[in-house]
Amino acid sequence: MSKKVCIEIGHIKPDPGAVSGNIRECDINLAVGLELKRQLERHDVETLVNRTEWEGITLADYFKKAAAMKPDAGISVHSNTAAGTSGAGTAKGFEAYRQTNSYNTVSANLCQLIETEVKALGQPSRGIKVHTNQNINNYINSVTAPYAYCELGFIDNPADYARFNTETKQKNFGTAYAKGILKYLGVTWKNETASGDSSGTANIMYRVQTGVFGDKKNAEKLQAELKTKGYETFVIVSDSETPTSNSPAALKVGDRVRVTAAYAANTFAKAPSTSSAVGGVRYITRVFTDSTALFPYQIGVKAGDVSSINTTGFAKASGLVKV
Ligand SMILES: [Zn+2]
Repeated sequence: MSKKVCIEIGHIKPDPGAVSGNIRECDINLAVGLELKRQLERHDVETLVNRTEWEGITLADYFKKAAAMKPDAGISVHSNTAAGTSGAGTAKGFEAYRQTNSYNTVSANLCQLIETEVKALGQPSRGIKVHTNQNINNYINSVTAPYAYCELGFIDNPADYARFNTETKQKNFGTAYAKGILKYLGVTWKNETASGDSSGTANIMYRVQTGVFGDKKNAEKLQAELKTKGYETFVIVSDSETPTSNSPAALKVGDRVRVTAAYAANTFAKAPSTSSAVGGVRYITRVFTDSTALFPYQIGVKAGDVSSINTTGFAKASGLVKV
């Protein structure tokens, strides 16, 4: 069964929360909270939120629902202000408030896991604390799961606010919160990619492909067939996979080749001297599909060695033999 997390995104209409100039806490909390929700759901975690826009349900209703949900963890997303106190304009950093009931230890643990991820963003921390507002303590103690009440930083301190003054930065906080919560839940973090599926830290993607056609009509025919079976498809238009001329062997990336002739007049400043490369075994590291390219191949000393770009060289097919 999937894990469940309740999220309070601080301050519902008409309450903006803390305000400093035209900065409103409710807007920051929303960007952070929605990204947190999205990241958790991407990891198959069920979420409950009190709002997805400024309008939402009351705190009392949210905590009633949170208790009924029987979550595995909970979090409140807030931003701070020190206005009216001695720290006005200078107080900085994240802080998290733990529960004071029987969950106090696990709640502190959850807070710490979130704090670690927040610090990794470069945001300092003021630590894990007990809130002085008893209403807040009562609310977070009512959830029968570890709960972290988080304040990400101070909107009235320009230096602190600079670390979360854009939607992108706010989303990074949401991601950090998600990472901390997932760690607590024992769910392994999965990196996100444009195609939405990747795991671990490996930078390798596995594409599923069903055909390559020279005729667009045939590609569209297969696409239509797959669509009737419920598969989402798209057609990628690419140049010919190998050079059509200057390419007796139609070499491809990864092929092992021997350099049999000096590179042709080499316009690449960092390419090696011609004599040292002749006779050497190299690997194709890149193929330029434009058949008119002066050098259709880039060659490196190791297979897949893209770091050697500019330090190895470029070659004409006529100077290479596949070995
Ligand atoms: Zn607040």
